[in-house]
Amino acid sequence: MIINLYDITEHLSVKGSVDASKYQASGVSEISFLSPINYDLALTRSGENVWVRGPIETRLALTCDRCLEGFAYDVRADLDIELVPKESQPDGSEIELKSEELDQYYFEGEDIDLDPYVYEEVMLNIPIKSLCAESCKGICPVCGKNLNLGECRCEKTGASVLGEKLKSFLKK
Ligand SMILES: [Zn+2]
Ligand SMILES: [Zn+2]
Repeated sequence: MIINLYDITEHLSVKGSVDASKYQASGVSEISFLSPINYDLALTRSGENVWVRGPIETRLALTCDRCLEGFAYDVRADLDIELVPKESQPDGSEIELKSEELDQYYFEGEDIDLDPYVYEEVMLNIPIKSLCAESCKGICPVCGKNLNLGECRCEKTGASVLGEKLKSFLKK
């Protein structure tokens, strides 16, 4: 959604959704979305700076790192950023030093497209390690069976030897 800076008299509530597929076309990201990104934002303008705050949520299709099955993952996050006109951008060296202002972004002109910020917030909230469940048993390294669906008959000698060693170590 594109907001004109001067439409924000002081506070403005903006509710809507972003169709994330327009960001997937580039092929850079392999994340697939199961729903649009919904947002409910409060915009506050102070001079030419705009604070954007509020919840966003969407549902992604991720692949479990352990069992390699696809699963749905709900992202719920709070956007909390400050948009600053590009003209007031300090030089590069200064930006890097201002770590407390990491959530500051620059915009050009009077029109602010909120969609990229909403999309980026989702990207920032994707877990580094994706697991379908904390208790996921993964796949058997021998036969490749998904162990969440039941045990296989493979001998897991390597694992049990290690288990015994660990037990005897803990007893000492
Ligand atoms: Zn899994
Ligand atoms: Zn097996």
